[in-house]
Amino acid sequence: MYNPRSLRAEEFISDEEVRETLEYAEKNKDNTELIDRILEKAKQRKGLDHREASVLLACSDKKKNREIIELACQIKKDFYGNRIVMFAPLYLSNYCVNGCVYCPYHLKNKHIRRKKLSMDEIRGEVTALQDMGHKRLAIESGEDPEMNPIEYILESIRTIYSVKHKNGAIRRVNVNIAATTVENYRKLADAGIGTYILFQETYNRESYEKLHPTGPKHNYAYHTEAMDRAMEGGIDDVGLGVLFGLELYRYEFAALLMHAEHLEAVHGVGPHTISVPRIKKADDIDPAVFDNGISDDIFEKIVACIRIAVPYTGMIISTRETAECRERILRCGISQISGGSKTSVGGYCEPEPEDEKSEQFDVSDTRTLDEVVNWLMKMDCIPSFCTACYREGRTGDRFMELCKNQQIQNCCHPNALLTLKEYLEDYASEDTKITGEKLIEKELLNITSEKVRETTRNRLSEISRGGRDFRF
Ligand code: SF4
Ligand code: SF4
Repeated sequence: MYNPRSLRAEEFISDEEVRETLEYAEKNKDNTELIDRILEKAKQRKGLDHREASVLLACSDKKKNREIIELACQIKKDFYGNRIVMFAPLYLSNYCVNGCVYCPYHLKNKHIRRKKLSMDEIRGEVTALQDMGHKRLAIESGEDPEMNPIEYILESIRTIYSVKHKNGAIRRVNVNIAATTVENYRKLADAGIGTYILFQETYNRESYEKLHPTGPKHNYAYHTEAMDRAMEGGIDDVGLGVLFGLELYRYEFAALLMHAEHLEAVHGVGPHTISVPRIKKADDIDPAVFDNGISDDIFEKIVACIRIAVPYTGMIISTRETAECRERILRCGISQISGGSKTSVGGYCEPEPEDEKSEQFDVSDTRTLDEVVNWLMKMDCIPSFCTACYREGRTGDRFMELCKNQQIQNCCHPNALLTLKEYLEDYASEDTKITGEKLIEKELLNITSEKVRETTRNRLSEISRGGRDFRF
């Protein structure tokens, strides 16, 4: 029985409800009257439910599809402006006891190099990341209670926050580790993490169990109910995601939105972020084996429909995607991207030797952070290294309220300029610096409040004189 308020996975992600939604969407995919009504509702910027959004996703009318993409671009602009938040992943350990068939870290892979960073190695990696200009990390680790216990993760977080190299600092650590207990989530919350991110991989229980044949991750309910435990443990911001390509995308899309509705219904706060990874080639993984791969056109439409359905949620895209694909979907929904990423355990200090690779997947966008920053600015986006919200206590419902009222931009926009200025002063190449200074001057004029504009101008001058870490 479908019940978004239930704490049981089988009830808030009811398979029956997903299937009925897909039938409803298929039946109405050419119903322009209904599609127009849904689009009218979407224009109010309050989001859509999973059934309405699924009809938009299924819609096959070319003209309407263009309208959908345009509306998503407009909503993205209204909520997030033109800033794009930057982050980098840091893999701590690839020891893993699970058997996920799409990931090269699965237990049976005996030839991949297994590695776990020591605290000294973490200090080295974080120094290298700071020297690139990063301020926000997402830490990743396989699930292995002996090799990577929660104490190791907590110690790693403390180490990351403690490194201060030159003007560098990691100001926000997001955490992507396996589903765990309320007690462990409480420890993570106490350690001052940003967002807890856990990809569902697939919401289809039958597929999930086949794709996770062994290990603790096999337990669908425990995995799917993890965000409720995280919130019970005091983590305000959680990030959802599915791995597109494993199951039918329409199924994943509807279920993902049902998960967002569930978090909103139970905790009063929807997901802080939604990630949209697609399955990629990796060590012993061939994406062609999974027959639900999606084209770039469909991928763009998924991003646009998520943007319309949950306007308040940040959307993340990683370097799994090519520069071309990233450019395309930035406009219609994405608010955060990684840059200069390594998907190996370590690798920021020194590249791994060819015959000792420990990567989780192949990176498609291999540009440096400086190149990505430069590219974003040439597209009139503001690369932002902002981490202000969580440090100002704007998390959970406090953040959502600002975001839903489209007021968060009043902080995002000046903060983007201040943190970009820090980047230009400390890390940018000559060309990036020239482009960035021009962009900042231009964007200052777009700050509508005179007071905020003046304060931003003053703080920018202070940054030129060596001041750091200003925020709204
Ligand atoms: S996806 Fe995560 S849990 Fe599964 S094998 Fe890879 S690292 Fe382990
Ligand atoms: S102000 Fe908050 S929402 Fe905006 S970029 Fe900074 S941390 Fe993110």
